[in-house]
Amino acid sequence: MNTTTVTGPPHQCTYAQAAWDLGTDPDLGVSSGEAAARLARHGPNVLPEARRRGPVARFLLQFHSPLIYVLLVSAVITGALGEHVDAAVILGVVIVNAVVGFVQEARAERALAALAAMTRTVATAVRDGRPARLPSEELVRGDLVLLEAGDRIPADLRLVRTRELKVDESALTGESAPVAKTPEALGEAILADRRNMAHSGTFVTYGRGAGLVTATGAGTEIGLVHRLVGSATSVQTPLTRKIARFSRVVTVAILALAALTFGVGVLRGQPVSDMLTAAVALAVGAIPEGLPAVVTITLAFGVARMVRRNAIVRRLPAVETLGSTTVICTDKTGTLTRNQMTVTGIAAGGRLYEVTGTGYAPHGEIRSAGRPVAPAGHPALRECLLAGLACNDARITEDGDHWDLVGDPTEGALVVSAAKAGFDRAPGRLDTITFSSERQYMATLHEDGLIYAKGSLERILAMSDGRLGADGGIEPLDAGAITEIAHAYGRQALRVLALARAEADPAADRLTEPPRLVFLGLLAMHDPPREEAARAVRACRTAGIQVKMITGDHAATARAIGERIGLEGEVMTGADLAAAPDGELPAAVERTAVFARVSPAQKLRLVQALQARSHVIAMTGDGVNDAPALKQADIGVAMGRDGTEVAKESADMILTDDDFASIEAAVEEGRGVFDNLVKFIVWALPANISLGLVLVAAILAGGELPIMPVQVLWLNMTAVLVLGLPFAVEPRDEDIMRRPPRDPALPLITGRLTARILLVSVILLAGAFGLFHWEQTHDASLAEARTIVVNVFAMTLLAYLFNCLSLERPMLWHGIRRNPWVGAGALALIAIQALYTYVPAMNGLFRSAPLGLGAWVHIAAVAALAYALVELTKRAARPSPSPRQDLRP
Ligand code: ADP
Ligand code: MG
Repeated sequence: MNTTTVTGPPHQCTYAQAAWDLGTDPDLGVSSGEAAARLARHGPNVLPEARRRGPVARFLLQFHSPLIYVLLVSAVITGALGEHVDAAVILGVVIVNAVVGFVQEARAERALAALAAMTRTVATAVRDGRPARLPSEELVRGDLVLLEAGDRIPADLRLVRTRELKVDESALTGESAPVAKTPEALGEAILADRRNMAHSGTFVTYGRGAGLVTATGAGTEIGLVHRLVGSATSVQTPLTRKIARFSRVVTVAILALAALTFGVGVLRGQPVSDMLTAAVALAVGAIPEGLPAVVTITLAFGVARMVRRNAIVRRLPAVETLGSTTVICTDKTGTLTRNQMTVTGIAAGGRLYEVTGTGYAPHGEIRSAGRPVAPAGHPALRECLLAGLACNDARITEDGDHWDLVGDPTEGALVVSAAKAGFDRAPGRLDTITFSSERQYMATLHEDGLIYAKGSLERILAMSDGRLGADGGIEPLDAGAITEIAHAYGRQALRVLALARAEADPAADRLTEPPRLVFLGLLAMHDPPREEAARAVRACRTAGIQVKMITGDHAATARAIGERIGLEGEVMTGADLAAAPDGELPAAVERTAVFARVSPAQKLRLVQALQARSHVIAMTGDGVNDAPALKQADIGVAMGRDGTEVAKESADMILTDDDFASIEAAVEEGRGVFDNLVKFIVWALPANISLGLVLVAAILAGGELPIMPVQVLWLNMTAVLVLGLPFAVEPRDEDIMRRPPRDPALPLITGRLTARILLVSVILLAGAFGLFHWEQTHDASLAEARTIVVNVFAMTLLAYLFNCLSLERPMLWHGIRRNPWVGAGALALIAIQALYTYVPAMNGLFRSAPLGLGAWVHIAAVAALAYALVELTKRAARPSPSPRQDLRP
């Protein structure tokens, strides 16, 4: 990977020498052919992944659990006692169990690996002399990489050009203050002092630059530090950890209980082999060993569904948090609106003009009072359009009759409006002050000695001393009148940009900040709200979620857009925010729906104020400076299309379409996932509890066990598996977005649900234990009585499945109709139990016996009783329907 350098380490030579060493050109980079050859030779620009366990190791790990150890030991002992069939059945079940666990784990991991691939970073490199966006894995040594604020540095670079470039190197050096970079050669320098290098894994916080790739992948400084990195995503979340802990505690307790019964029984003189059987049955029946796996699978499925709705979850815990979101703070431009700007109005030289035409096609004209005007006769208008064209980094491209934009839509709109007046060429540029949300303006210095600037009205007015009049002369500035016009545009939901110019010192080739200017005029542009946004805002309101817009735009514009998409609440500006004392801020923020002229730094304060009121906050952001707020928010949301790499890196979730409606969709999915988890747990626990109770009762009462270990294993494999799976694909409840958000302080299983779990456990205990004895006193054999017990469990779990499809309402036929797996699972279970009961081979393996009709009636009665009682408790817990509903015909 290392080529020998003629001149020394890249930071110690000039960039031209470094380019020579790297076999590249500091202005043109490498050709795509050369890049492909280098990529083939040196491999992709990725850090080596930590070695993953092979499939065999992962399969063997499935056997690493206390329950499996119990089973393996009991299989050995059972075999030694001469019960070879039983021993084989236990071993068979253990293996099937391992296979199921292995497959489930692989699926969950695949879903997460797919996510990691979707969040790969992209870089801009010059190939064949033209800038191109490409995945950062494809970078090779010698590539010329272009950097701007918000970029993640994709490889180690020797800088060749910088413009106020500042880099956050904390990931590498621990130094949190951004480091200013320049291309000059250095002497010997330690890593933190190599100011002409930019290192992989660090971030551009400010300015621009370009650099040549000197090392990629494992050869980079970060590659040397972290020889190995684990996979980025982990399948652990606070919830899965809690559940895993719960199931570990239960396991230990049950194992202790089993050991205790064994010891006490043996001491009381019962046969060792009987007591062993009882202890094993207890352990197998009562330990909820499948719980953690199902939780992980359900989360992974939820993540996959979110991806289909354009939300990529970067951290799995976000899925849980989404379900409890109470406030969504969102950007305006691009998220609630489409970010497709069209200039529709111009105010210059004391006159108002309209611009016709839509989109980026330069078709349209400029009118005044309904009549087309020629810019030549309107100097202020002309200068306004020229300023918009010159102080601009966007380009419009034509492809047949399709017009496209490269760059910022706000700037694209200016290029288009200038083109409509026949201007398409700006004088050459010498220097630029780039736009940033904090600075709120952009300025350029041109070869013809002019400075052009554009930005927010407030900023430009503050820098202007006079204004260009209708006849081209300079007049005094009437800030009040201009502001009045801007507000009128704002009230029509138009975004307003102010334009200005100045004559530069002829010798100057650099801009000094801030320039003094002559005001030229205003451009007003239309940015249509997204149709989906209004619907999503309404959906959030019914779901008890507040939506707050945060924008750098003017209050009048923000308010008007807010009204169009249905935001309800007060309007606050960044200045109001700054003036509000810490104590009063939370209440004020709560009342406000629109925050205008807010700087990224204020977003952090906003999040904190909302969190002080115990809100769970999802917040969007796209710029470099949004990163702290994204991290602070409970769910940081970054934009996949227009967001910077820094924002994506700090976010918990990325929207692939930048659309507000996708946040709402993700919340809906998050709620659904949570619901399904709760439903599954409420459904699954009674089986474990009641099996445990039945066995403990039998051991205390003495006499035959109502259910044998292999039979318990059978239930675990069939009923629990076949009926448990539909929960992972259960559709969301129809009313999921009509409920208030879940209170994160509430336990997963509330008191009411605990009572339901206990109720069903008791019914199962009474049904199974009662029928076991009653049937035997009415001529049933032991094998028949045990078969009845197994079927009581299977059929009651089946009936109870329908109870659990909705936690609040009855859901029988509808449940089957909306989730085909429910019906399929039910039929499969009935078929499987019929095989278990009637096939002679099964009778041999599992000691089951054919049953008569009478027995089935009893079994069905227990199942129906459970179903009916649970529905009754649901009804009792439901608030009675409102009287108005009763009056309806
Ligand atoms: P938003 O929250 O809508 O994205 P921005 O922070 O991008 O707001 O913009 C804030 C203000 O800065 C806008 O109202 C506009 O006046 C001005 N502005 C926006 N884009 C540019 C630009 N490219 N150049 C100069 N000024 C701009
Ligand atoms: Mg913006």
